[in-house]
Amino acid sequence: MPVLNSIADMSKEMAEWRRHLHSIPELCFKEHKTAEFISSKLKEWGIKHQTKIAKTGIVAQIKGNKGNSNKTIGLRADIDALPIQEPNNFEYKSTHEGASHKCGHDGHTTLLLGAAKYLSENPDFDGTVNLIFQPAEEGGGGANEMIKDGLLEKYPMSKVYGMHNWPDIPKGKFSIRPGPIMAAVDTIQINIKGRGGHAAMPHQTIDPIIVGAQIVSALQTIPSRTIDPIDTIVLSVTQFHAGTTHNVIPDDVFIEGTLRTFSKKIREQAIKRIKEISDNLAKSFGANADVIILDGYPATVNNDAESIVAADTASEIVGKENVEYNMRPIMGSEDFSFMLNNVPGAFIFIGQGDDEHKVACHHQQYDFNDEILPIGSSYWVKLVQNLLK
Ligand SMILES: [Zn+2]
Ligand SMILES: [Zn+2]
Repeated sequence: MPVLNSIADMSKEMAEWRRHLHSIPELCFKEHKTAEFISSKLKEWGIKHQTKIAKTGIVAQIKGNKGNSNKTIGLRADIDALPIQEPNNFEYKSTHEGASHKCGHDGHTTLLLGAAKYLSENPDFDGTVNLIFQPAEEGGGGANEMIKDGLLEKYPMSKVYGMHNWPDIPKGKFSIRPGPIMAAVDTIQINIKGRGGHAAMPHQTIDPIIVGAQIVSALQTIPSRTIDPIDTIVLSVTQFHAGTTHNVIPDDVFIEGTLRTFSKKIREQAIKRIKEISDNLAKSFGANADVIILDGYPATVNNDAESIVAADTASEIVGKENVEYNMRPIMGSEDFSFMLNNVPGAFIFIGQGDDEHKVACHHQQYDFNDEILPIGSSYWVKLVQNLLK
């Protein structure tokens, strides 16, 4: 079954919503105009919804008219933008200084709105669907905030599904995998305290730069010597700040980096070694290292059965030959992981790549591909029809 006919008819209208959303990008938990737009559309279609969940989140509910099942599933779209100045000069360019939709969440919001409109007009399913418009995916952990704000108690659901566009995947294709699909992210901060002094009398100092340099090198033994080579880990030091001039050894050094892992065990092993290496190396030079780990998003782990349901549903839209059932995981991360940690489900990638849409998410030239709107909305609708029948 290809794209649903009546959704294809909505393509132009959906592109208009998407372009309007693109022109009013808003950052984490400040998605007020975006939420207003979503709410106005839901009202127009007579869809019951609650606003202001985790500040700017919305949950809309549509009940099917085919039976009395109390089965409920959730479909989630993220709605926030990134703090990137829009360099594009097209008609619908960002009107908000320093913000733009460079991850395609304007598209994700539109895909779910398209499904909302279709499902409200064609409620031929048995059960209830929760349409979750989630704020603050880009660093704010909006998914977790919605959960803390009672999302799962107020709107209990037996499955939850998410979708993200991906420029590396060609338009008209989908990719997914059972198990870990995106990494957990943690920020590592190391403050090294030495004893500064005159650069010409280094023997009177405890040089924190020497200590820091050793720590940076030694941290690379975690991926290469601590973790099983078959397991996946990224440890990158991305900041090293020290000193003010050429003839003074500073008192301290600040190091920051990122840790990406797929499993809890590997994450814990790595964090333990980061602390041991930093602490012991610093001590061996007479310095002190204070390690802080800032928890980011957990790994996004698809449930096996739900991953297959998602892939089979995508196959109905674009054909089995256009769906990758076992894609390579991505080292980026996603706060949909918080929802998957509570409710079984699956996160799928929808391809958006073509000649004009090759640029990666988060690049300043990125723009969502409107041609995939009917494909993505059809996927949502078909998923509802398949799960609630
Ligand atoms: Zn992003
Ligand atoms: Zn994104």
